[in-house]
Amino acid sequence: MDLENKKAGTQSVWAGETAPFADGSAVVPVYNTVTFAYDDLGEWTDVALGRRPGHIYSRNTNPTVAVLEEKIRILEGAEAATSFSTGMAAISNTLFALLSPGDRVVSINDSYGGTSRLFLEYLPRIGVDAALCNTTDHEALEAAMAAGCQLVYLETPTNPTLKILDIERLAAAAHRAGAIVVCDNTFATPINQNPLALGADLVVHSATKYLGGHSDVMCGLLCGRRDLVETVFRFREITGASLHADAAYRTLRGMKTLELRVARQNESALEIARWLGGQSGVARVFHPGLEGHEGQGIARRQMRGFGGMLSFELKGDMEAVRRFTGALKLAHRAASLGSVGTLVGPPSVTSHVEMTREQRAALGISETLIRYSVGIENVEDLIADLKQALVAV
Ligand SMILES: *Cc1c(COP(=O)(O)O)cnc(C)c1O
Repeated sequence: MDLENKKAGTQSVWAGETAPFADGSAVVPVYNTVTFAYDDLGEWTDVALGRRPGHIYSRNTNPTVAVLEEKIRILEGAEAATSFSTGMAAISNTLFALLSPGDRVVSINDSYGGTSRLFLEYLPRIGVDAALCNTTDHEALEAAMAAGCQLVYLETPTNPTLKILDIERLAAAAHRAGAIVVCDNTFATPINQNPLALGADLVVHSATKYLGGHSDVMCGLLCGRRDLVETVFRFREITGASLHADAAYRTLRGMKTLELRVARQNESALEIARWLGGQSGVARVFHPGLEGHEGQGIARRQMRGFGGMLSFELKGDMEAVRRFTGALKLAHRAASLGSVGTLVGPPSVTSHVEMTREQRAALGISETLIRYSVGIENVEDLIADLKQALVAV
């Protein structure tokens, strides 16, 4: 079946799962095996040397995991894909495999907390410098690239204020500087945005979030240019940050409903963002689909939907935040995002807890900012829940 030309809803279900499975199984079998046995030494050697397809040892490749890699490859329109035990494993293996001492990275201030730590703490230890620019300052990013760099690392929309980067424009600038472009597509998902089609060379995902979609599995994925994916895969074979077959199975199961879930979350988040904008207890709402959002023009061009994430500032102080979040009934007060269940948390006590108030303010994160990851619940019920929590403040 030519799945490359099918729509995302069809790819979510079928990609990677068109070839017959063992014994006619209609669902991908979970190969809970460490190793693969060969009676014939010649055959074993051929597989080990890559002269014929097959598997040797599950740290390297595994049939269940391979099905998941094929699904994300097709959904992102990539040449090749590989997988990792977590999103941070995908990001750190990619950066450490592709960068060498003396190299320079250009990225943004607002990247995911763990990624930011790599740029500020761990890459400098191996002599890799990171120039981190103000996130939406495209001129500053282009100037930093023109000064020389080997890798440009993008993330859009950003966490938690949903800033938008112009992937096409920044990828073109990166390529003029001879750099490769890596884009974290976790927030958008391949349903809403395909960075490779906009010029990125590699896409990383924390599949822990929307792709898995049920807060029951951790997984990282990487796809894009074949030569680059191969290099990172060879490194991951050695670092051992491999995905387990059970985790691959749960991610695959979640991904079958990816398009359904994200379509619902796109709609609900926009409706909730508009509703919050009209409430007197709310000072500001951040969502790329809102009229007046700084990046709305770019988002309209490069995204098919604005995603299920939003954040908003409450009027008042930390006590208002405590009361409001405490009063919500249809939300887990927890880290993470992208699940079928709504999740809520203030960045000041979750993703950005290690920063000072001043550092957060510099990123536009006020003390009363609340991040809200919209689940697939009925949107009227979610709005009613938010309404009673605002009254409780
Ligand atoms: C959660 C997240 C990560 C890290 O993924 P893990 O699976 O938690 O390791 C990276 N990038 C973004 C944007 C994330 O939200």
